[in-house]
Amino acid sequence: MYIKCPYCGINYMNENQEMCDVCTRDKKAVFIDDELCEICGAMLQYNEYKICGECMSK
Ligand SMILES: [Zn+2]
Ligand SMILES: [Zn+2]
Repeated sequence: MYIKCPYCGINYMNENQEMCDVCTRDKKAVFIDDELCEICGAMLQYNEYKICGECMSK
């Protein structure tokens, strides 16, 4: 059974999902954006490593 997503209220999702596919993707993007460098604490943007470019080049 499909229900409306509680986050966006636009898309439908399977009732056993936490949120719709669109919100899942958005949440993931936000999570990656919010990741910080483990060494200097600088904001990382779509970095597969846990450290920023500056620390990586050291
Ligand atoms: Zn949604
Ligand atoms: Zn850094």
